[in-house]
Amino acid sequence: MDLDFTGDVALVTGAARGLGRAIAAALAESGAAVGLADLDEAGARAVAGTLVQRGLAARAYALDVTDRAAVERTVAAVEADLGSITVLINNAGICGTAQILELDAEEWQRTLAVNLTGAFHCLQAVARGMVRRGGGRIVNIGSLAGRSGGILVSASYSASKAGVGGLTKAAAKQLARFHVNVNCVAPGTIETELIAGWDPDDVRALRESMPWGRMATVDDVTGAVLFLASRRAEYITGATLDVNGALYVAP
Ligand code: NDP
Repeated sequence: MDLDFTGDVALVTGAARGLGRAIAAALAESGAAVGLADLDEAGARAVAGTLVQRGLAARAYALDVTDRAAVERTVAAVEADLGSITVLINNAGICGTAQILELDAEEWQRTLAVNLTGAFHCLQAVARGMVRRGGGRIVNIGSLAGRSGGILVSASYSASKAGVGGLTKAAAKQLARFHVNVNCVAPGTIETELIAGWDPDDVRALRESMPWGRMATVDDVTGAVLFLASRRAEYITGATLDVNGALYVAP
């Protein structure tokens, strides 16, 4: 299947490393001009620099998705530099491991602010332009934890990712008549720096419990994201695609 992004302009948040970096690279390799936005500006610049050296179209932006005004400025900057955004990947996220009885209000607020409110800020800022121009594709990165509740991750993470699922459904319904589709990819545990701080015994036990015999790699997830971000998926909207090797199968 041809997933050609020639002529597309994509904004990927949290693109300095991990899943966001892999998605940004795959979009650029498939022909898109890609804006890589991240709190870690140096990291985003390094990734964009590597892509540009390979002859691909990429540019880095410093962005904290919790800062609404900064999101609007970044969207305007990407559109001035690269062109009108046709694809948004809401990927920036944080994940704590505090258990429910120890989870403090600050961590609760911060996780919701980044994972859920940040996705809302970016979705709204980008969708306004998409609606004016007659269409666009948005993919939100959810999580298995938001689908079935996480044990190792904080309840704030599970709640924020369940919220991303609700945001996806509501936005899909409200933006369908403008031909903006909104979908969610919900990965199981991926081998990235996000899990680097987890207890090694927990990680070992988790690996051993995987029905597929291993955790996900970023490449396992990137294909699902690219499909939903492509023109081939235009009529699919409001969906959540689980990518977890059968760790959780939706009823
Ligand atoms: P990483 O922690 O490896 O990368 C996340 C990136 O997002 C980092 O570069 C980080 O920057 C950036 N970021 C964090 N906060 C903000 C912010 N406020 N504004 C902009 N950028 C920010 O995570 P992954 O690549 O593993 O995760 C990517 C997405 O996939 C997340 O939404 C995550 O929840 C989701 N996911 C991950 C899973 C996993 O097991 N890894 C499983 C399921 C879903 P900095 O380094 O400066 O903090």
